[in-house]
Amino acid sequence: MRGLVTDRGAYAADVVVNAAGGAAAAIAALAGERLEVRPDLHEAAITEPVAPFLTPLVVDVRPGPGSANVYFYQSKRGQVIFCLTPDPPLWGEDRRASSVFLPQVAQRLVALMPRLRHLRVRRTWRGVYPMTSDGSPLVGWSDRTQGLLHAAGMCGQGFMLGPGVGTLVARMVQGATTPEDQETLTAWAPHRAFAGQEALR
Ligand SMILES: Cc1cc2nc3c(=O)[nH]c(=O)nc-3n(C[C@H](O)[C@H](O)[C@H](O)COP(=O)(O)OP(=O)(O)OC[C@H]3O[C@@H](n4cnc5c(N)ncnc54)[C@H](O)[C@@H]3O)c2cc1C
Repeated sequence: MRGLVTDRGAYAADVVVNAAGGAAAAIAALAGERLEVRPDLHEAAITEPVAPFLTPLVVDVRPGPGSANVYFYQSKRGQVIFCLTPDPPLWGEDRRASSVFLPQVAQRLVALMPRLRHLRVRRTWRGVYPMTSDGSPLVGWSDRTQGLLHAAGMCGQGFMLGPGVGTLVARMVQGATTPEDQETLTAWAPHRAFAGQEALR
């Protein structure tokens, strides 16, 4: 790897990390490599803050009309944050919030916990899970381009995995991985056989 050229200029680098989330496959394709990661659209919402009333993260794993599950929690600031997993999944990069999500998720939440009907929703938004078919990340060196390192496919766990993946990638770049890292990297190899079930959903 000698570097890369973007619309803002040319950058010399021995190592380039592809951490482009839902766009990681498109970045890999620039280097002629196929990466099995797809943008899977998910929406979320946040309410006004209210006095504490909910301690756990609640996950209702029962399927409902148009949704595989629903989950919500109350933040330290008192806002309730809630999400729903669309079923069937919505693939793509269209991050505009939809008019479908709020009525759909509100129905499920109020049926589960009627007092939630008193909450006022501040805003909704849509983003992507950079999804792999077995639900585990893709972290490893390119098999085609020396110095290209993929750190993608965080699925719905990128906030949780991010700090650990970041330090793992730093050790890889420094050539300082541990035996435990090697175990993780085998499980997360970008070109593994995607036979497993999603484990972390
Ligand atoms: C509604 C919702 C709720 C979620 N809830 C949780 C949760 O509770 N816990 C959790 O752990 N995870 C959660 N996630 C998942 C989490 O957001 C993702 O796993 C995480 O953001 C992935 O991180 P990433 O850095 O790999 O990709 P991203 O966060 O998508 O970052 C990729 C970056 O690459 C940039 N990029 C893309 N293409 C290019 C390019 N060509 N050139 C330059 N830059 C480029 C993008 O602008 C972006 O900044 C949720 C996601 C959604 C949508």
